[in-house]
Amino acid sequence: MSKSPRIAVIGAGLGGAATASLLLQEGFDVRVYEQAPSFSRLGAGIHVGPNVMKILRRIGIEDALNAQGSHPDYWYSRHGLTGDVLARIPLGDYAVKTYGASYLTVHRGDFHALLIEALPERVMAYSRHLVGVTDRGNDVEMRFADGSVEHADIVIGADGVNSHIREALLGPEPPKYAGYLAHRAVFPTPEVKAGMLPFDACVKWWTDDRHMMTYFVTSKADELYYVTGVPVEQWDLNDRWLPSSKDEMREAFQGWHPTVQALIDATVEVTKWSLLERDPLPLWSRGRLVLLGDACHPMKPHMAQGAAMAIEDGAMLVRCFKEVGAHNHELAFALYEANRAERASKVQRISHDNTWLRTNEDPSWCFGYDVFSEPLVEPKAK
Ligand code: FAD
Repeated sequence: MSKSPRIAVIGAGLGGAATASLLLQEGFDVRVYEQAPSFSRLGAGIHVGPNVMKILRRIGIEDALNAQGSHPDYWYSRHGLTGDVLARIPLGDYAVKTYGASYLTVHRGDFHALLIEALPERVMAYSRHLVGVTDRGNDVEMRFADGSVEHADIVIGADGVNSHIREALLGPEPPKYAGYLAHRAVFPTPEVKAGMLPFDACVKWWTDDRHMMTYFVTSKADELYYVTGVPVEQWDLNDRWLPSSKDEMREAFQGWHPTVQALIDATVEVTKWSLLERDPLPLWSRGRLVLLGDACHPMKPHMAQGAAMAIEDGAMLVRCFKEVGAHNHELAFALYEANRAERASKVQRISHDNTWLRTNEDPSWCFGYDVFSEPLVEPKAK
């Protein structure tokens, strides 16, 4: 084997792109294989908590993201019908002081673009859809839809909820439809800013069976995003998303607070996404293959921590490579799983239950986490 193992990352989503940057910084030989020919600014927002910003600091994009995103002073939870405040969680300067970095909301496409720009072009291989992978003992063979074949010493599956690497490890099994749809819309702010409640920069509206989360996705607060969770019994898993409409939104949120109605009225375009989950996997790695992010623990997005877990996974995996040496990949993978499984499963469970910050709870276990300084626990003996 060469001195520096060749590491292939499958998938350049938020998890894969961040992991590749961190690997490069530590001097590893990395190549990223992404099925898409390129990325565009798709309509969605994302929360980026202090636990992630500390990792983005290491990657070198913390300042750029801080400049792009909106910095809410509070996360509000409000009753969907009355607008009554159910919880007010301090963020803003408090988050910087208490958790060690800022909490922001931003356009997902802008965040992803920063991660991709941080990677040198030479490491990115676009239009490479992985269709076959074989761990041959002394290396891994990867086969792509375009007929190309590549080899690596370690393969990281950051290939999302329908991960091919997960299938190679555990066999084919589609993810479970969680029984909820998420409507997503990004649109210009001005129409909805006037009147009604003072407009909260980050607010989740709740009733017993559904919710709508709203926040700005730019520092200028000129673009707003909402994402819902609405129970819908049946969904054809062949469709990841479909177009929705204002009428459908009005029906789903009939009788809700006037501010919510104003948001629906201001909607330009809205899509609906199926929410998918898996039960915790019995293994995260075998031989030279290892999983991270949605490939490993897809979850409902109700804690706004799915991408955060993918990026934390990547940072911990790189830390474990450094700790025991990437040549000791099986030991590194065991150490990685031992230090990630509990936290990722906890976030998965709370996301499933959709209880996060509905009341005034203390989020410090989540936002205060620093993947680089968290004491490591030893893998359990098998
Ligand atoms: P992905 O982002 O899915 O990336 C996988 C990549 O692999 C893609 O680029 C894909 O093209 C590529 N790929 C797949 N298969 C192959 C193949 N065979 N060969 C090559 N490439 C392949 N998370 C948060 O932290 N905060 C939020 O506010 C938040 N809001 C959300 C709202 C909604 C409605 C949803 C659905 C999710 C939300 N999430 C949020 C969760 C977050 O989007 C995911 O957890 C996160 O994107 C997972 O990152 P990943 O890198 O593991 O996978």
